[in-house]
Amino acid sequence: MLLTTGPVEMTARTTGAMARPILHHHDPLFLALFERTCAMLQRVFTTEHDVVILQGEAMLGLEAAAASLIAPGDRVLNLVSGIYGKGYETFIRRAGGEAVELAVPYDEAIDPQAVRDALRRDPHIRFLSVVHGETPSGTRNPLAEICRVARSFEVVTIADVVATLGSEPLRPDADGVDVAVAGSQKCLGAAPGLAPIAIGPRAWEIMERRRDPLRGSYLSLLDWRDAWIARRRFPHAPSVTLVYALESALEQLLEEGVDRCIARHASIARACRAGVRALGLRTWAAREEIAANAATAIAAPEGRSGEQIVDHLRERYGVAIAGGEGEMAGRLFRIGHMAGAARPPVLAAALAILERTLHDLGYPVAMDSGAGAAMAALER
Ligand SMILES: *Cc1c(COP(=O)(O)O)cnc(C)c1O
Repeated sequence: MLLTTGPVEMTARTTGAMARPILHHHDPLFLALFERTCAMLQRVFTTEHDVVILQGEAMLGLEAAAASLIAPGDRVLNLVSGIYGKGYETFIRRAGGEAVELAVPYDEAIDPQAVRDALRRDPHIRFLSVVHGETPSGTRNPLAEICRVARSFEVVTIADVVATLGSEPLRPDADGVDVAVAGSQKCLGAAPGLAPIAIGPRAWEIMERRRDPLRGSYLSLLDWRDAWIARRRFPHAPSVTLVYALESALEQLLEEGVDRCIARHASIARACRAGVRALGLRTWAAREEIAANAATAIAAPEGRSGEQIVDHLRERYGVAIAGGEGEMAGRLFRIGHMAGAARPPVLAAALAILERTLHDLGYPVAMDSGAGAAMAALER
């Protein structure tokens, strides 16, 4: 049972879609399929602007956004509330940009007022980079409020929505998110290996107007615009079977409805936190309002490491969850509830097995408490 924070289990329908015969990427059938997939992504992103699907996993999309937009000397306000936010500094620097950091502890969220103050203090800032959901800490930043502040300063925003597309409300056009980078393997429920990106007109303009626009590179978003958006060609051969999976997963998501899919993730996440508390454990996020919908990070109980719990769940019960990364290593463990894993029976099983794991490891736990509390907390 795969309950990590991505990749996630795929439905039988998605797996079946991947098993279809390979089409050549210039075949009209594949072109139509790719076009349909982009159109569905626009609906899931809720954007009327362009969508491209980079042929690599989410990190390629995040690096491509930095490489395509940021020119040497550009100042970038990099918001850091966790590991992915901190890591973005590397991409900013590699593009020649200067990262100006606004950081909070990794169990907290960025305050939009602090963003306003930082942009006031430094009028030379041109870009802002922000992670919507910091999966390693199970927290969420107020993306809409942050990007609206950025827009009022004419600062262009790059958002990591890898874990939040499909699990948190997102309105890139209305909220001023200029580039939103997602991944196929999280709440969309497709196979790992693709990076869908929503790109607004301000971002295209900046990419084009750069003194030395990035072209002829796997990291180039302009290459995708010139090939796919302008001429319905590909800059290089796409990963045909992964696109099959993404098309199928998006179809299923849209059959459910974007809002319903998000509400389901929110309800399961809330129930998970209720179950965790009933077990006598503490969620990592400092406040309930900033806890993410895609995954719940749980502080390791006194005297036990997160890895001990992860290993025991896997070896004894065949359940894969995630541990802590970086400075959180050992200090927490995480239950992913993304895509098909965001369902009551899956959560009930996960919490019952977690309860038994704590008991096995000699941690005092009230038996028969977690799963029941979680089910009672589900929204009707
Ligand atoms: C998963 C994830 C990524 C991409 O990381 P991979 O695990 O390498 O695909 C980037 N940002 C966030 C917030 C994520 O959750």
